[in-house]
Amino acid sequence: MKHKNLLLSMLIVIATVFVVSACSNNEAENDTTNQKENDTEETDNDNESVHEEGTNNEADEDKEQEEQEEEVAKQVDVEYEIHPVDSSVIPINDADEKVVLLTIDDAPDKHALEMASTLKDLDANAIFFVNGHFLNSDEQKETLKKIHEMGFVIGNHTMTHENLTKVDEQTQRQEIVELSDKIEEIIGERPKFFRAPHGANTDFSRQLVEEEKMVLMNWTYGYDYFAPYQDAEKIKQAMISGEGPEVDVPYSLLKPGANLLMHDREWTNAALADIVTGLRDKGYTMVDPRAIKTIE
Ligand SMILES: [Zn+2]
Repeated sequence: MKHKNLLLSMLIVIATVFVVSACSNNEAENDTTNQKENDTEETDNDNESVHEEGTNNEADEDKEQEEQEEEVAKQVDVEYEIHPVDSSVIPINDADEKVVLLTIDDAPDKHALEMASTLKDLDANAIFFVNGHFLNSDEQKETLKKIHEMGFVIGNHTMTHENLTKVDEQTQRQEIVELSDKIEEIIGERPKFFRAPHGANTDFSRQLVEEEKMVLMNWTYGYDYFAPYQDAEKIKQAMISGEGPEVDVPYSLLKPGANLLMHDREWTNAALADIVTGLRDKGYTMVDPRAIKTIE
């Protein structure tokens, strides 16, 4: 009899432990689910505004347009952040670290749309850092819209490519904020990334960029603006190897998280597909900039 009671008590204790632990598991699960649902809800709202914009502006667009809108609205999990000092791409948690970020500056000039198309065909995303002086005509604005609708991220590179260290604060503000206004007018959203012309910032511009909720970045390497590399074959080799011996970089700057600077230029455009495939041959993935943490 005693044994029976003891056994019963033990069973009750075990059963209670199971129930309690099951409850806490459920609770944890529910929390995660709620969190996800809330996230999705916010996302859906964002999507709605994008769709409305699209519908108002282009009522008669075909399926391709719908696909483009989906591409714009596509939500990507945040898995990376930009190193505040060296501008490299750092994985958050256990994201793949063998990635490089592609960036195209001084866009959209003559080649940006073709470059976007090349990248799209290769399923490689990039940030296009744009200037206001390339966004005056309707055609230029349309180009920016197309690049955005293809799923590329648009960054702020100032109105007129001014060296911010050489102008007063009022001018710095105009260079930065007026371009964000202009980009928003064209694509319906403000840029979330900023790169200063020549990588030259002031304390004022850094603070302003943060207030404007943009992540500031320079780059880790890029060669296409140096005379010896203004050639498709040479820029291809330099970008894939990370080496620029003709501008005193005889060692490789290619490493996980490298932030690659390129420009809207003829030779870079010509080499772009080979650059992407060459980097992939070395085991690198092009990080989707939409997976980079921004300032909310
Ligand atoms: Zn530039």
